[in-house]
Amino acid sequence: MLRISRPLRALAPTLALLCCTTACGSGESATEAVGPTNKPTPVATPPAKPSPTVAPTLPPGPAGAAPLFSHGRRDSGKRIALTFDADMTSDQGPRAAKGEHFDNPPLIATLRRLKAPATIFMTGRWAEQYPDQARSIGSDPLFEVANHSYSHHAFASPCYGLPAVKPGGARADVERAFAAFRRAGVERTVPYFRFPGGCHNPEVLRELGPAKVTAVQWDVISGDAFAKRPGPVADEVLAKARPGSVVVMHCTRSAAPATEAAVRTIVPRLRERGYELVRVSDLIAKG
Ligand SMILES: [Zn+2]
Repeated sequence: MLRISRPLRALAPTLALLCCTTACGSGESATEAVGPTNKPTPVATPPAKPSPTVAPTLPPGPAGAAPLFSHGRRDSGKRIALTFDADMTSDQGPRAAKGEHFDNPPLIATLRRLKAPATIFMTGRWAEQYPDQARSIGSDPLFEVANHSYSHHAFASPCYGLPAVKPGGARADVERAFAAFRRAGVERTVPYFRFPGGCHNPEVLRELGPAKVTAVQWDVISGDAFAKRPGPVADEVLAKARPGSVVVMHCTRSAAPATEAAVRTIVPRLRERGYELVRVSDLIAKG
């Protein structure tokens, strides 16, 4: 079971990115050692391969429920997906208007400079607030844009104090976010959905079955939420990363101000250890 780290305990309800302890791919033993190789190799910066035209999805769960994905295969090479949640709630518009930054352009610039592929789980509200950035991310083959709900409400309650999506409204909320992406002009999206706070239950997975999305959780919590210093964030990721891992981080300066600096450490260190950075679609494609 994943422990709940200090930054997570401090998490504000409006940015509940917490891992549900039942859905983090915990409890498995590593199938491959994660650590420095004997011969340090130069940082590799291979050209990013474009995302597949049709993103792979997992087969439906019982009764057509949306399938859950928490990490890729442990025995299919040292591949890791960095994911960044672009959180914004429906009531944060006034705060953005007053100058609060729910975006993080330096983070996106750093990922581009490092040629580090990533999956961005975006709320529809974020795409409405930052349409130019949403478009830019969606047109860059380095990235893929996935769905993190329209306004970051809870899909199962309780969920860290998040207000709940109205009963029976889960599918509509997911589709509302995809519609916001289309209106913003996001060129390429993938049919992956991340529950706000990771909170879900069998009922909501069944409700989302017709939406044809794969629900994507994670197995490595970076602890970047409200972290002031990048060092502990990088240390946490580097300590927990395993082949096939899905790492959850954030793309919002407001609530995750140390993430960009942490990524500047995480990416080269993972590559030194022989890891290839990939998108979630690349992990799902490998089963
Ligand atoms: Zn979130």
